Amino acid sequence: MPTPEAGPGHSDVLIVGGGQAGAHAALSLRQQGYSGTVTIVGREPDPPYERPPLSKEYLAGDKAFERLHLRPREVWAEKDVDLRLGRTVVAVDAGAKTVTLDDGARTGFGTLIWAAGGDARRLTCEGAELPGVHTVRHRADADGLRAAIEAGARRAVIVGGGYIGLEAAAVLTTLGLSVTLLEALPRVLARVAGEELSAFYAAEHRGRGVDLRTGVVVDRILGGDTVTGVRLADGSVLDCDLVVVGVGIVPCVGPLLEAGAAGGVGVDVDAVCRTTLPDVYAIGDCAAHANDFADGAVVRLESVQNANDMAVVAAKSICGRPEAYTATPWFWSTQYDLKLQTIGLSAGSDTTVVRGDPAQRAFSVISLRNGRVVALDCVNSVKDFVQGRALVEKAAVVAPALLADSSSALKDLAAGLVAP
Ligand code: FAD
Repeated sequence: MPTPEAGPGHSDVLIVGGGQAGAHAALSLRQQGYSGTVTIVGREPDPPYERPPLSKEYLAGDKAFERLHLRPREVWAEKDVDLRLGRTVVAVDAGAKTVTLDDGARTGFGTLIWAAGGDARRLTCEGAELPGVHTVRHRADADGLRAAIEAGARRAVIVGGGYIGLEAAAVLTTLGLSVTLLEALPRVLARVAGEELSAFYAAEHRGRGVDLRTGVVVDRILGGDTVTGVRLADGSVLDCDLVVVGVGIVPCVGPLLEAGAAGGVGVDVDAVCRTTLPDVYAIGDCAAHANDFADGAVVRLESVQNANDMAVVAAKSICGRPEAYTATPWFWSTQYDLKLQTIGLSAGSDTTVVRGDPAQRAFSVISLRNGRVVALDCVNSVKDFVQGRALVEKAAVVAPALLADSSSALKDLAAGLVAP
């Protein structure tokens, strides 16, 4: 467990990134009884906090930042976790087992956990860096966006129809801004959900006044000292006071790849979250792993569930009790009064079944691949979410007509099924 070198300038476990995964890894180590020194080096100035509210209640002004902390501040000291905040790890020397920080300081480690997440992907067109072009990844981003709204911005263009773009559209519309949402693909949520869900959310947003356009390409952001508009590829111009870009993330893995870890978009990890470098783990948004729920394909999952569960897997492995990462993926999104909960991974599905009535604003879309249930997207349908879990975990073969029949409970369909 602890290494003999423990002392100033050395940490038995050094965690890079004080976000969801890094924080949970530190707590999990202590929960597993780990008694060595644990340090988190985090680029942000705040102690670990939840990111999901940044595009939901926090952006809306309904939740104070203090309520976003993953643990009360004093817990980190109580758990003997050394937080080194406002510091960035810029280099890793896997052989010497040291990291270099942005102030030039070096810290040694026994084991490294890389939990650096990702940065919001920026647009590459002209004007992409103008003041008034916002992303929503860190607290500072959400604060900047709120400040712009409080300063009087009334017209917003949101680029990207994924969860973050749609959540931002819901909040900004509710706050009274006029919102145009631009999606380059033919439908919103195209990468993460089936057509039924995309159509439902597009209609909801349009019904609330969002000018939602698909198949639209941004050519240039216009402005000088600040943003004044967005020019589209067809030459038309949308006047606006601010732009929100929600087009995915770029994993923060540079120093680790430069140190020799295998990876590409993300860093490769094995079943217990080890990278190809000795004593170096990677967890959370930046960790590319083979996932059973994706038919063994190598994926990165960007979710609180994945961050937390990978943290536990790494902690157990470090404590000498390795258990493979097999957690069932789940996720949620809140837009207006719609609570979406998803379980499983729908990518690659070939059949979808709608259960319930979208017109009632409470329904589920069940995705199947080769006749097996692989995912559920449940809108205001907590019961389906809870009961459908077993169907996903057992990769159940159930006739679509039975799944669609909302008079029969999913738990009854799942009962008696045996996992493959
Ligand atoms: P992060 O939480 O991003 O933490 C990484 C930390 O590492 C950051 O603080 C970063 O600054 C720091 N860092 C990066 N590089 C370095 C370095 N070199 N040195 C030191 N520190 C570094 N998931 C859900 O399941 N449901 C939701 O509803 C949901 N909503 C979301 C809404 C928003 C606006 C965002 C941004 C994300 C949302 N997510 C949601 C995703 C979820 O928050 C992430 O999957 C999760 O935070 C990933 O945790 P992580 O620790 O891997 O990365």
